[in-house]
Amino acid sequence: LIAFLLYLFYLVPPIGQLVQGGVQLQQGLAAMKRIKEIEELPAEPVSVAAAEDGRPAGVRFQDVVFRYGDDRPVVHDGVSFEVPPGGMTALVGPSGAGKSTVFALLERFYEHQDGTILVDGRDIRDWPLAELRAALGYVEQDAPVLAGTLRENLLFAAQDATEDELRRAIARTRLDDLVARLPDGLETPVGHRGVLLSGGERQRVAIARALLRKPRLLLLDEATSQLDAVNELRLREVIAEVAQETTVLVIAHRLSTVTNADRIVVMEAGGVRAVGTHDELVGEDELYRELAATQFLVG
Ligand code: ATP
Repeated sequence: LIAFLLYLFYLVPPIGQLVQGGVQLQQGLAAMKRIKEIEELPAEPVSVAAAEDGRPAGVRFQDVVFRYGDDRPVVHDGVSFEVPPGGMTALVGPSGAGKSTVFALLERFYEHQDGTILVDGRDIRDWPLAELRAALGYVEQDAPVLAGTLRENLLFAAQDATEDELRRAIARTRLDDLVARLPDGLETPVGHRGVLLSGGERQRVAIARALLRKPRLLLLDEATSQLDAVNELRLREVIAEVAQETTVLVIAHRLSTVTNADRIVVMEAGGVRAVGTHDELVGEDELYRELAATQFLVG
């Protein structure tokens, strides 16, 4: 029995590491798939004027209908809502409501079948794809940390960013404390082979990485992982600050993220059910009240 217990003692930590490694491998593969998708984009020239024009872009969905395959539409009823330029708009709703599909349509990973999607007043089908994606920043849910140093992580998609821009992105995403804490600051390896970052730090690294590309519209799929009170407060501050310079559209899984949103779009079963501020919706919409009661952690 003792031999068996000793065997378990030595066996279990490697199993734990393997499981953790597997999760990171999966996350890495998902990231690689995305990078591959981006690399495979048709080489369309990005107009310099558009790339340099950092004005916040608004979004309008007008009677949009979409289905992934031949099945019934996922987004039906002609989805309509508006995201004004600048400020923060939140998408909330139960799992399967269609929130991620809205992001996928905006990035043109899929084409809608009916209706119109406007970005900055221009039909999404009229945007050259590379130009559209250059205007959009996307922070995925529970974004993985890439192999390499913190600096490499931040500059991954913006190699030509200046040192000043890097410092500013770090300050805006409240990562100064992290940089100060790491043994070699920005040059410290992070992720699987380096210092492990907390969920809140990983999310802010991903936001900083996206900001360095100077997006006109930031799509943020908020991490579902639990954040401690400090990280939750920081995320709220970061979003509020970023929303002063660009448009932020966030899929919110946390009540704290939406209470100060300029507008909240409540989705349900592929349709838009209600639009308003937190206070308005608490008063007017039963589903929103229910979601608020369960802190939105439903999908
Ligand atoms: P969650 O909060 O769980 O991510 P969501 O509100 O983002 O949910 P979507 O992921 O947009 O919802 O999904 C809307 C509907 O579309 C669901 O019924 C889902 O099963 C379906 N769906 C999502 N992605 C695909 C896909 N790639 N192919 C087929 N159906 C899909």
